[in-house]
Amino acid sequence: MNLNIYFDNNATTKCDEEVLNTMLPYFNNQYGNPSSIYSFGKDIKNEITKARKKVAELINADESEIIFTSCASESNVTAIMSAIRNNPTKKHIITTSVEHASILETMNYLKSIGYKITYLSVDEQGKIDLQELEDSIDEATCLITVMMANNEIGNIYPIKEIGKIAKKHNILFHCDSVQAVGKIKIDVRDLNIDTLSLSGHKINAPKGIGVLYVKNQIPFTPLVFGHQEKNRRGGTENAAYIIGLGKAIDLILKDNYQLNNYLKDLRDYLEDQIRKNIDDIIIYGDLNNRLPNTSSIAFKGVKAEELMLILESFNIYVSTGSACNSETKEPSHVLKACNVDLNNYSPIRVSFGKYNTKEEVDIFVKKLISIVNMFRKRG
Ligand code: PLP
Repeated sequence: MNLNIYFDNNATTKCDEEVLNTMLPYFNNQYGNPSSIYSFGKDIKNEITKARKKVAELINADESEIIFTSCASESNVTAIMSAIRNNPTKKHIITTSVEHASILETMNYLKSIGYKITYLSVDEQGKIDLQELEDSIDEATCLITVMMANNEIGNIYPIKEIGKIAKKHNILFHCDSVQAVGKIKIDVRDLNIDTLSLSGHKINAPKGIGVLYVKNQIPFTPLVFGHQEKNRRGGTENAAYIIGLGKAIDLILKDNYQLNNYLKDLRDYLEDQIRKNIDDIIIYGDLNNRLPNTSSIAFKGVKAEELMLILESFNIYVSTGSACNSETKEPSHVLKACNVDLNNYSPIRVSFGKYNTKEEVDIFVKKLISIVNMFRKRG
């Protein structure tokens, strides 16, 4: 049996066929260096400019504010390091305990060199408290960095309110928007975001392409020095991937976020079917304010790791926490921060993408019912 049901789209997505076909000529036929001044390179530069405009349109930025990077992790680290280098006397950063590893590991490093880091706590549903944020601000605070949406439980964070608070106190605000892109309309002006990151491989473009938005008015210091990207990010432009990302964003804009309705229907159908057929379950996260494609579900007494492996044997792919920390086999830092009962209720994460179908959900639920029953009989 070769079902190959892929329900791990928050980890990565399949590259869209149209995106792939848009990219292919730039590997062999149009392989010139975009920085060359002859037409063999310049034509490619023009396509990169079009992609830059698409990214800018997606987040309501100016194209001059868009920097292409190798991934969102690089964008996150670049934004944070730039913020601290341009505020050398201020050594306090506020973030949350549920950020992506690229943020949290940077915080660990900064802590080791003397920075004070405030990690905002979350409640059982993974929500933060804006009062705690305001109360944490002091005269040494140089940066607030909070994600727009969480990769594991799907929570959407109050970015507009955080942007207002940051502006009021004249503090830079960085927003990791990797999971939100394509699912939430983003307007960096309205949200008061100073720097923002996004990643191609979560939106059906390839792995290895990221974006850093940097508001024009704020001082910026690169992480990778060089002449490309107007001296803000060195390295010969990854033309094929940049142009592919532009195409993926074009598809999102043309679809006008309609895909979200489909994803939400799939997710709600899955959760309904599980609730109807399996008792003693918990769905984690803020159920009133989540990404439409994400479900973090635990079945009492069923170890998520074992469940995931059994599902894998049927070629059904889900995750047990963020793909980025699954190697450590540690329980998810996000759910640990939520202080939930992981001993009895350890969750799998199901995250849908545009290629998933209701038929796949039916197959998945059928398998789930029998696996959970087997676990519970075994005791
Ligand atoms: N931020 C979040 C919330 C993510 O989910 C991820 C990827 O898993 C990243 C950042 C890192 O993205 P990239 O793989 O492009 O470095």
